[in-house]
Amino acid sequence: MVLSNAVSRSDDSVQSTFASRYCRTSLPRYKMPEDSIPKEAAYQIINDELMLDGNPRLNLASFVTTWMEPECDKLMMAAINKNYVDMDEYPVTTELQNRCVNMIAHLFNAPLTETETAIGCGTVGSSEAIMLAGLAFKRRWQNKMREQGKPCDKPNIVTGANVQVCWEKFARYFEVELKEVKLREGYYVMDPEKAVEMVDENTICVAAILGSTLNGEFEDVKRLNDLLVEKNSQTGWNTPIHVDAASGGFIAPFIYPEIEWDFRLPLVKSINVSGHKYGLVYAGVGWVIWRTKEDLPEELIFHINYLGADQPTFTLNFSKGSSQIIAQYYQLIRLGFEGYKNIMENCQENATVLREGLEKTGRFDIVSKEIGVPLVAFSLKDSSSHNEFEVAEMLRRFGWIVPAYTMPADAEHITVLRVVIREDFSRALAERLVNDIEKVLHELDNMPSMITGKLAIAEEKSETPKHHPKKTDLEVQREITEAWKKFVEDKKKRNGVC
Ligand SMILES: *Cc1c(COP(=O)(O)O)cnc(C)c1O
Repeated sequence: MVLSNAVSRSDDSVQSTFASRYCRTSLPRYKMPEDSIPKEAAYQIINDELMLDGNPRLNLASFVTTWMEPECDKLMMAAINKNYVDMDEYPVTTELQNRCVNMIAHLFNAPLTETETAIGCGTVGSSEAIMLAGLAFKRRWQNKMREQGKPCDKPNIVTGANVQVCWEKFARYFEVELKEVKLREGYYVMDPEKAVEMVDENTICVAAILGSTLNGEFEDVKRLNDLLVEKNSQTGWNTPIHVDAASGGFIAPFIYPEIEWDFRLPLVKSINVSGHKYGLVYAGVGWVIWRTKEDLPEELIFHINYLGADQPTFTLNFSKGSSQIIAQYYQLIRLGFEGYKNIMENCQENATVLREGLEKTGRFDIVSKEIGVPLVAFSLKDSSSHNEFEVAEMLRRFGWIVPAYTMPADAEHITVLRVVIREDFSRALAERLVNDIEKVLHELDNMPSMITGKLAIAEEKSETPKHHPKKTDLEVQREITEAWKKFVEDKKKRNGVC
């Protein structure tokens, strides 16, 4: 949840035109009203205010599902009053989650033999899944160090600097040092060689990403596994791998089955995936699967005794809704392997249409890869007079929400725009978006540069004598870069990508 500040102004109120049919007094904005209002009024007021939110279907910033079939909407609404944690009261819902875990474990090629059986659970999203997986690694590492009589107070985790913010959260909340492999221009994922170099005895795991948030690229988990196997055999540390497959976990198995990234690799001990991304369910579901029971230390499991039945759980929260779990089961059986494959292929084809359209303008460098999450990340070839943030801002006028952001260290000087292709983003929309981007570019070309304009005004106002020597091109370029850097820094504080 976003942190909301309490407001001291108590006279602020919410006005609504149509609700006046039901009630004439305005509502205090930040204080609970003294009196009740009719239900129709409450509905009207809220509905009217929400009208100004963006259209989720046009939100190209997000991987999270914005469309499901009406039959599934119906199932979700019917389950909206079911608390997922009441497993004894809702045994069928619990059974559906078990089936989902099993199906996903199979999809990720978990070894399911007599001695090795995968284990997993549903979560609120990949973030919770990653907290749980991280905790399991931390505890296993601590147990190992204690057994060996070594200190276990300085755990670390090795990732690329491109990790999603939830890894930073895990590191800060659970006191694990995050050791990030830096990126470089033209290479925006974790370099496996450098990652393995950074591994030491206190490394609880190396986290690889299947589908980097920044450009959709799959990290080379196979190479990482092979290098780490070698290092482990030299050091005896046995450092494991976690794969953050938040977006790629429901893509690779269907359209890139030949890529080895999952439990086929011996060091991959756990994998998370967001059910609400390419699992095709609305926001609120993720999954985490461990290779075997041994990979999830028993002491982290809570046994809830619900009316006599023992239910092992591993979760950060207690109560939550059931609808998303039911919806995930719906998608898995409704679509089957065939259906997911078709949808992912279609997304990939639409991404190609968009990528080729953008390439044809001749104005962009494409920084996403053809193999990866279906998205297109692109930078302006020439951003000396107008940049990616302006393109993003101007696209809003056409209703498109396209984020612009700067890359993490050491590629901070690269700014990209990113369009995520979801199931509900059709080819027609892709073509239309290219058209609108062309219009925006055309308008920008005819607009004076905001930055050089500002510099000129500043210069006029400045006290330096009018006849100072003309600035060299290099000096001007430096000033422009400085000004943009500030602009981007300010933007970054507001512009999150999810
Ligand atoms: C989206 C994402 C997350 C966070 O997942 P949520 O399901 O939104 O909590 C973590 N890692 C990666 C790579 C992601 O793309």
